[in-house]
Amino acid sequence: MTTKTQPAAKTATKGKTAAKTTATAATKKTPAKKDAAKELKDLFEDSLKDIYWAEKALVKALPKMHKNATDEKLKTAISDHLEQTKNHVTRLEDCFAALGKKAQAKKCDAMQGILDEGDSIVEETEPGTVRDAGIIAASQKVEHYEITTYGTLAAWAKVLKEDKCLENLLATLEEEKKCDELLTGIADTNLNSKAL
Ligand code: FE
Ligand code: ZN
Ligand code: FE
Repeated sequence: MTTKTQPAAKTATKGKTAAKTTATAATKKTPAKKDAAKELKDLFEDSLKDIYWAEKALVKALPKMHKNATDEKLKTAISDHLEQTKNHVTRLEDCFAALGKKAQAKKCDAMQGILDEGDSIVEETEPGTVRDAGIIAASQKVEHYEITTYGTLAAWAKVLKEDKCLENLLATLEEEKKCDELLTGIADTNLNSKAL
């Protein structure tokens, strides 16, 4: 075994001074940026900007996935989800409106990474069942990212009593979950056996 366990972070219980003197670089708190979120409401709005960027990126990315897919059920699932995704963008715009904010997108590094990885999978596979399996894998990473994001945002909207947002976030969350389940079904019934 070469795996080293991370040393446990020292818990600073004796106030700021103690924390300052004992903290190593790895255990130091990250200083907040000037415009950092102070309240949950700010974090909520920042996170809406992040997923708004992600959904808009998906509207651009899904047609490419559709073009590269072969299986008819998969192609249909992707084009249906493209239509839903356009609506996810609109629902987020409604959220911003309900908050009295202008809809604003902020680059989501996580979604960019997942989409980049999806591009690599496509390049690294022959068109057909193997590429389809890769596209499903990449798409499910997208859906899982969205599911966790919308789950969190819905929980925050509930706490913040932002009912209009909550309604929209839950509606989208449901569609992301359905899409993920559909992809699992397609993988199970059509592809995994053929791709071998
Ligand atoms: Fe979505
Ligand atoms: Zn993100
Ligand atoms: Fe989605």
